[in-house]
Amino acid sequence: MDRTLLATSPGADTLVEHAPAPGRGACRFCSAPLRHTFVDLGMSPLCESYLRPDQINNMEPFYPLHVYVCDVCFLVQLQEYVGREEIFTEYAYFSSYSQSWLAHARRYTETMIEELGLTGASRVIEVASNDGYLLQYFVERGIPALGIEPAVNVAKAAIAKGVPTLTKFFGRETARELVAQDQAADLLIGNNVLAQVHDINDFVAGMKIALAPSGVITMEFPHLMKLVAENQFDTIYHEHFSYFSLLSASRIFAAHGLTIYDVDELDTHGGSLRVYACHSEDPLRPITPRVDTLRQFEIAAGLEDLNYYSDFAERVRDTKHKLLDLLIAVKRAGKSIAGYGAPGKGNTLLNYCGIRTDFLDYTVDRNPYKHGRFLPGTHIPIYAPERIAETRPDYVLILPWNVRDEIMEQLAYIREWGGQFVIPIPEARVVS
Ligand SMILES: [Zn+2]
Repeated sequence: MDRTLLATSPGADTLVEHAPAPGRGACRFCSAPLRHTFVDLGMSPLCESYLRPDQINNMEPFYPLHVYVCDVCFLVQLQEYVGREEIFTEYAYFSSYSQSWLAHARRYTETMIEELGLTGASRVIEVASNDGYLLQYFVERGIPALGIEPAVNVAKAAIAKGVPTLTKFFGRETARELVAQDQAADLLIGNNVLAQVHDINDFVAGMKIALAPSGVITMEFPHLMKLVAENQFDTIYHEHFSYFSLLSASRIFAAHGLTIYDVDELDTHGGSLRVYACHSEDPLRPITPRVDTLRQFEIAAGLEDLNYYSDFAERVRDTKHKLLDLLIAVKRAGKSIAGYGAPGKGNTLLNYCGIRTDFLDYTVDRNPYKHGRFLPGTHIPIYAPERIAETRPDYVLILPWNVRDEIMEQLAYIREWGGQFVIPIPEARVVS
């Protein structure tokens, strides 16, 4: 079959490795020209731009989801096709809507307070603090905390729950302002923000400035090795400019005088790393064996070799075809399918695979912000979760597959009418 028949939008699934080079740009870390495609998911709308009913007949901007790998520093990256103000000033993602993420945040808080001996005289700063989902636990324990969050609507939610929050983007300039106000951080946190930074050199240089002399940085980001190993191509979206390995993150930190001295492998977001960094001149924190082990593991897996990256695109196409095979078979059998969740990753998946209301009648989400709106690009309507019990769909496609266990538990009742779950990633499968 002509592959373009399955493509959802111009450019999807077409080979671009040898295409001319206009618009490819340069590596955001080392400035080398970008010459190698990691994966091309075609054209897609911004994944957090949920549509109100009055917007449904308007034109929608679509941007390329074409990811490159730098052949000098191996940073996997998307160019900035859209300005950060357009993406991040009004943001639909409220961290507090995921129970498992809140539990993760609470555990982290307790561990760090103990390990670093944080007290009422310490200062914790979180960059991209969202709705205060994490800092609230430091505030509860009487530890001074400050959030930095550019999205006005989520920052307001944080302030409302008692978490002091600056509505700003973070970089050298903001870091210097903090230091000038004697607010250097003993613990500087950035969870799932490093990927969302366009000017990564300005951001990491800002971390260096804002960190107290013996302070610690912890950052969590999805691990590129997991993305590749488990076909998590739907975690690629315009808001995520960079995709990190320990090797590429260490390289960037080192260039700015910061050393990653420890690392945890986490299950969150499909497999993340939490790195611990300090000033490179800090003598108190030697590099742990865990860092060396994971570095060697990444090197052995081929992360410093271009072939590792070029194999990925074919597997992504295969994953798409398998999911469509499954959904087509379900529809041919006359069954109904609803979605669960309206996460950013769902929008990448649905747009890339061309799954619209011809497959999914609707999707549901716990976030009231999204109710009555429509998914970008595919225009699938979003309802409150109760809709599932009302319409009793035969299948529920779980879009935030990273929290599938939590969702299957919440929706255990669909088994009453013989309902089943479809998990799209790493490979489409039905779970009874
Ligand atoms: Zn580079």
